[in-house]
Amino acid sequence: MRILKFGGTSVGSPENIQKVIAVVKERAQKENVAVVVSAVGGITNKLLHAGHLAAQKDTTYSAIFQEIKDIHLTYTKALTQSGETLLHVQNLMNDLEALLQGIFLIHELSPKTIDKLTSFGERASSMMITAAFLEQNISAQHKDSRDLILTDASHTKAIVHTEQTHTAIQNYFKDTNVPITVLPGFIARSETGDTSTLGRGGSDFTAAILAAALQVDALEIWTDVSGMYSANPKLVKQAQPIRHISYHEAMELSHFGAKVLYPPTIAPVMQENIPLYIKNTFDPEAIGTCISNEVNGKNTPIKGISHINDVALLTLEGAGMIGVSGTSKRLFETLSSLAINVILITQASSEHSICIGVAQGDVQRAKDAIENTFAYEISKHQIDPVFIEKELAIIALVGEKMKSHQGISGKMFSTLGKNNINIRAIAQGASEKNISAVIASKDVKKALNSLHERFFEDQHQQLNLFIMGVGNVGGRLMAQIKQQQEYLLEHLKLNLRVIGISNR
Ligand code: ADP
Ligand code: ASP
Ligand code: MG
Repeated sequence: MRILKFGGTSVGSPENIQKVIAVVKERAQKENVAVVVSAVGGITNKLLHAGHLAAQKDTTYSAIFQEIKDIHLTYTKALTQSGETLLHVQNLMNDLEALLQGIFLIHELSPKTIDKLTSFGERASSMMITAAFLEQNISAQHKDSRDLILTDASHTKAIVHTEQTHTAIQNYFKDTNVPITVLPGFIARSETGDTSTLGRGGSDFTAAILAAALQVDALEIWTDVSGMYSANPKLVKQAQPIRHISYHEAMELSHFGAKVLYPPTIAPVMQENIPLYIKNTFDPEAIGTCISNEVNGKNTPIKGISHINDVALLTLEGAGMIGVSGTSKRLFETLSSLAINVILITQASSEHSICIGVAQGDVQRAKDAIENTFAYEISKHQIDPVFIEKELAIIALVGEKMKSHQGISGKMFSTLGKNNINIRAIAQGASEKNISAVIASKDVKKALNSLHERFFEDQHQQLNLFIMGVGNVGGRLMAQIKQQQEYLLEHLKLNLRVIGISNR
């Protein structure tokens, strides 16, 4: 069995959904598949937007609702003739409208209601896509993930109860032999019986949970790019898909902002040693990325560069901190009591200051709480009031082989320096899989591109390869080039780029 997950862009239009069907159909000829789908691209944001407007008593929420409804009804009609499916989708839209009216009336949007609200995206898309399979006489069934994935009640980013969830998934799939099962990603059921969700981007995680529970041969994440790239392809034109990457490296890259994979996705498949492939729905023949335990020794020490935006730094400083035990404990306890995630920590060996990176949205709350915790020391001038800096980003170099290479941080900082990019803080994990620097947000694009050039493009030796053919049909030539590309990557770890095709 295999698990395939398709993201928002992949299911973003009836035409794209046909591409999804073609991929699934091909896979389902060999083995049964579970297909996890996201909401139609942009719908989760629209649902949240409508919800927030309704909660603020702004009647324009109904225009956004109308858009959401139109999209789903139009897509359903384009995908299926089934009156029953259309009725189902219409009923869903009626329930959504009633929920939004409720939010408008009570003037409130709790995390529990947010989960109920955002669940409509995946519920509608999974229903439409199942119908689209059936329309083409492809045997498929729909299963609501809320019957299988059980969580705690921490709404909007619930914690999965793994054992119960695995049992429910195994019990369900052992009794079914339908070749294709379509499930909504992202949504689950809390221990109190309410709809919960796994966090933004969480459909990847749904697919990984299914993969681990069923110990499948492979998990495939189908998206709008051809794999995990050496840097965000939207910001770095020269970025290339990474052919092979370890679980740990992929985890670091996704934690540090490579949005292509929701970070919690990797742990379940890593535990079961299930390979994870990232593939492009719009170019299914492209090789994509394989994430597994196999780390290839010939590969470069740096696998990728990623970044996180909207970061703020908090500095706690003062002579009163030197040699006083328990300062860090009090600091981190304060942050943890507010559920504030610490992205990066640096401490000078003098212990005179501790610097912490947090999401910009959390920084004011964090500052207030820390100053409250250290109110006594601040009043006695032993510790300074917390200093905050905003509009920052973290940029990270990731690679498991970095630890056996010297001079990487030197190269990183000199490259940033040469490009007049000021570094505010630096952190390197003891595992040396990651070197991170905090820089100004405005410098991100320049930093990514200059680091990419320094670490990836400089090393590329150009290999001129001439492929000649007679009666040269474009398609056949491209197929030959693709074969050469795969061969070179597989055996020599060389990335072949086609620079030009000449006709002589
Ligand atoms: P989906 O809707 O399929 O889940 P996402 O939008 O969540 O897709 O993730 C895919 C996007 O991730 C890409 O379009 C790309 O812009 C972005 N991205 C950021 N960093 C990387 C990276 N290192 N490699 C590939 N994609 C990346
Ligand atoms: N639809 C959800 C989101 O936009 C989950 C997902 O797409 O993975 O966050
Ligand atoms: Mg995603």
